[in-house]
Amino acid sequence: MSASEQELDAVLAEIASRLGEALELRECMLFLVDAETERLTLRAAHGFEKPGELLERIVLFNEEPLGRVAQSGETIVVDDLAALADNSLWEPIEQRGSMVILPVIHHSTTTGVLAATRPEKNAFSEIETGLLAAISDQLGLAIRHTQLFDELRRGSQHDDLTGLGNRRLLRIRLEDELHRAERFGQAVGVLAIDIDYFKSLNDRHGHPMGDASLRKLAGLMTRNLRRIDTIARIGGEEFVVLLPRTDAVVATKVAEKIRSMVEETEFPDGKGQPEGALTVSIGVASFHPDETGADLLARADNALYEAKDRGRNCVVTAHQPTAGSARSLTRSRI
Ligand code: GH3
Ligand code: MG
Ligand code: MG
Repeated sequence: MSASEQELDAVLAEIASRLGEALELRECMLFLVDAETERLTLRAAHGFEKPGELLERIVLFNEEPLGRVAQSGETIVVDDLAALADNSLWEPIEQRGSMVILPVIHHSTTTGVLAATRPEKNAFSEIETGLLAAISDQLGLAIRHTQLFDELRRGSQHDDLTGLGNRRLLRIRLEDELHRAERFGQAVGVLAIDIDYFKSLNDRHGHPMGDASLRKLAGLMTRNLRRIDTIARIGGEEFVVLLPRTDAVVATKVAEKIRSMVEETEFPDGKGQPEGALTVSIGVASFHPDETGADLLARADNALYEAKDRGRNCVVTAHQPTAGSARSLTRSRI
């Protein structure tokens, strides 16, 4: 598998599911390690009922036994999970059977953790643990290559002012996500976000102040969305957020969270805005398998216009297209 040609998360998901199937694991998990914040973040999961809901979940270094592996770089084999103290195991993992946890090491740094479970006790032989160790070494390289490739690519796919993705990144991610959504029957949500009366702020204080608000809004969204979400600035004060594995109901909640958070955040002279605060309007659409990415964005955009019509500072969710009409919408700004 060519690590450099795929997004890191897609690579990790593929590795977790291939390992899970080939080695007949009950569960297979890949975490990335952040030594600075002493946390592991789950980036790929196989064998769980709803793996999508587990992604981005965090385990701390002081949580046994997963955290210990990240911290110490040692391999741990748990021959009987049921013998661990109650509730001591990371709760999504079923506490019976056995588990092996290995560090993913690159240049003497633990960059990830690979964990595998089986329903039987003592199910991991020394030979198999050795095999998994060899795989996790390769994984260290794959993670690093993909991260390097990602860094190189960043320049051409990101917006200088805010550091968010640009239209190009959005187009690539949208294509990937819709492909995955069609293949695995997953939901994808899209938010079209536009700052209300932004011209007024610029007119009162000039562009530098407007730019500071754009950066602040970008930071706010980045901190409050998942890492797998794509946030792109597609125009002056217009943003699109791509929410993988998110249906219309949840996407609407996310939009509402962003809307209220912006309203409650203090922006430079936000009080001077027509609404007494800097606000955003948001249009929400969720992917319908009969439509193209452009159609999906156009529906989110139409919902955004509806939100502006309704008086701004609100969220409007687009209806699903009726059968046969999905491709009839042509207006799109992408
Ligand atoms: P609405 O509520 O209808 O969205 O009103 P609006 O004033 O936000 O929308 P309009 O499209 O009339 O104006 C957008 C303004 O955004 C125009 C310009 O002053 C500002 N703008 C566009 N790009 C940038 C940018 O890169 N930096 C700054 N500071 N302002 C920008
Ligand atoms: Mg606009
Ligand atoms: Mg605007």
